[in-house]
Amino acid sequence: MKQRIKRVLAGLFVFVLVFTAAQVSVALTPFNYVLIISIDGARSDIVFCRAESRNIRALSSGGAYTFWAQSIVPSVTLPAHTSMLTGVKASVHKITWNDYKPEKGYVQVTTVFELAKAAGLKTAMFTGKQKLLHIAKPGTVDKFRWVNSNAGVIARAAAEYIIEEKPNLCFVHLPDPDSAGHSWGWGSANQVKSVEDCDKAIGVLLDGLRSAGILDQAFIIISADHGGHGKGHGTTDPRDMCVPFICSGASVKSDYEIQAPVSICDVSGAAIYALGLVIPDTWTGKPIKEVFKETIFTRATASETAQ
Ligand SMILES: [Zn+2]
Repeated sequence: MKQRIKRVLAGLFVFVLVFTAAQVSVALTPFNYVLIISIDGARSDIVFCRAESRNIRALSSGGAYTFWAQSIVPSVTLPAHTSMLTGVKASVHKITWNDYKPEKGYVQVTTVFELAKAAGLKTAMFTGKQKLLHIAKPGTVDKFRWVNSNAGVIARAAAEYIIEEKPNLCFVHLPDPDSAGHSWGWGSANQVKSVEDCDKAIGVLLDGLRSAGILDQAFIIISADHGGHGKGHGTTDPRDMCVPFICSGASVKSDYEIQAPVSICDVSGAAIYALGLVIPDTWTGKPIKEVFKETIFTRATASETAQ
């Protein structure tokens, strides 16, 4: 009888082991590379319904997307990008101005770059506006480059860096639709064309990832800081607030419309989750786990590995 009980217990033990292994094996290893692309002032309907955005549409249909991601209040460039890259609202990160003011220093809250650096990862920012330097706290961004030019030039500079240095977390800001919107109006022919220029720039970035040999290991997020209407933005009008949020990568669901409400704060959450890092409790930004086919493992951080 004892032997029989032993055999049953041994069988149960093996079953638990196999079951646990099966559970673990479906979880995914973290992405080694995350590329965040922000198209400044890109309103969802203009991106998807007006512009011939071949690359963006291919990334959406091959990945997960929503047209209805929400900017923050105020829906203006520097506060919104700060929310996008710190996972918290403007009332928390306190960057409420919208110009480069060196005397004000850097954002005080934790940024995506800071978390990635703490985990021993390489980080980079390529931006068309100098004011985004307020987000690049010293020691958190290995390469910060303000490229005072258009989307094509910025994308080529970023792609070159991606090929040479393979940053684990790279942020690229494409400013054209915002400038065109302020000059000619949101939805004007010139502004639609500026979105198309950004789409071509995204093609350059994808080619960069491909040439670097890391496209199949990359998680790509495309979003925008705000939309716009007339020749401005900054209000809670849906045309100022609705922006795209697109995720693409090997383990991202295909042609999947995201069901959860998405905020631009979630750009941080999704990026940190995809890298296998832990999202701070203080963040509003969520991981948007529904875009992934399975749960992603948490990566051992550099400090843990050293112990
Ligand atoms: Zn902007």
